[in-house]
This record gives sequence, C-alpha cells and structure tokens, in this order.
Amino acid sequence: MHRVLELLCAEPAGKRTTERARELAATTWPETRDSNDFVALTLDDNAQRQFRWRSWTAIEKLWDLEDPAQVNVAATEAKVSASIGGVPFFGIVDRLDTASDGLVVTDYKTGKPPRPGDVPEKLDQVLLYAAAVEEDWGERPTRGRLYFLGNRIVETTVSEDGIRAAVERFAEAWGSVGRACATDHFDPLVGPLCGWCPYVADCAEGTAEVERRVSIGRMREDAPARTLLGI
Ligand code: SF4
Repeated sequence: MHRVLELLCAEPAGKRTTERARELAATTWPETRDSNDFVALTLDDNAQRQFRWRSWTAIEKLWDLEDPAQVNVAATEAKVSASIGGVPFFGIVDRLDTASDGLVVTDYKTGKPPRPGDVPEKLDQVLLYAAAVEEDWGERPTRGRLYFLGNRIVETTVSEDGIRAAVERFAEAWGSVGRACATDHFDPLVGPLCGWCPYVADCAEGTAEVERRVSIGRMREDAPARTLLGI
C-alpha cells in the first residue's frame, strides 16, 4: 500500500487516478511478493489473495479522504534523522505536502483510528516527524495528519507547545528504555499483540494474556502464539 501510494504521488497530478493506482498495484506486486519480509509471513495462496485485497481496499479508500490530483506533493517516503530532545531520531515520512499554509506531514494508517482519549498519543508521531523535518529542511511544518484509510483523518496543527509535549514524552520513553537496558529488567506490556510475540513462551504474563484472550474468544485463530503455546 505504501509503495503504490508513493509511486502514485510521484506521477503528475492529473495522472493520480484509481486506474493508475490499480496499474501500479499490479506492477509492484512481484516486488512485495518476493521481499524477505513478505516471504517470512509464509502466507498460503488464499492468505496472499486476502493480503492483496486488503491492501487494494486501503489504497482505494484514499479517494474517500482526498483527491490526490489536488495535492501538491513535496516529497514521499522522506527519510529524516535528527537529535530530538537529546534523543537520536530516525523516521520515514510517508508524504510531505506543500499546502497554502505551509508544509504538511502526512502518515498513512491502515489500522483503526484512535479513541478520543488516545488521540494526543497517536499524534506524537507526526509531531516528532515535524520536529525532524524542521531540523532537516529548515522549515517547520504547519500541520501533521494521520490518514486512517477507510475511515477519517486525525489532524493537528504543529505548535511549539505540541512539539514540546511530544518531545518530553519521547525523551521519557527513551530514558525508560535506557534504564531497562542498564538493569536488564523489562516490564511486560500485555495486549492483543502478545498473540504475535515470538517471546510469548518465555513470558509468563504474555502466556496468561493469550490464554485469557483465547478463553473469551478475543484471540484470532491464526495468531502464532496459539501454535507456540498449543492452545
Ligand atoms: S508476550 Fe510478553 S514480551 Fe511478548 S508482547 Fe506480550 S508481554 Fe511483551
């Protein structure tokens, strides 16, 4: 999905159509199919078809959020690296647009949009990207947007206060990672992704979480942890 939208945005504005996106999806498929990451998923033919279908659906949903032919694209898949709040930062910005009010950071999402209470935390990513873009490009973006394809746009203006708060949370997370590495103590953080965690068999809390979710029907049948734990 990212690759197709990257190539689509590299086209002249008038050619950014669903028909062109469909052609790009077809021509880039072998690249995805043969990549190490995709091969490692070991999907059978049916699962591959579902993967392609879900990817295409996400691509097509872009037109529900905007008309890409109207977007003034400044860069796609832009690598940014900077020191933010004293923390080394590297990111790949899906898209940078030049809008009438300045640069806009856009990040595509295929998951569900956040609940209202989780929005500020979700927006930290685009605020950190904005800070990195400012350092790399010498211009601070004015807005950051998360495009939840098939759903809605979550957007924020980029303010001094917003960046400061995001950077503080980022530096705090970096500090806690450092403390965990120094003491070799990592607190388990259980959740639905324990079902896909390769360490689950060595993690008592994760095992208990997977068992709990299986017992209430909240763990997908294809979650690898079910095979690893034999449940
Ligand atoms: S299984 Fe354990 S280590 Fe893995 S994600 Fe869950 S809590 Fe974290």
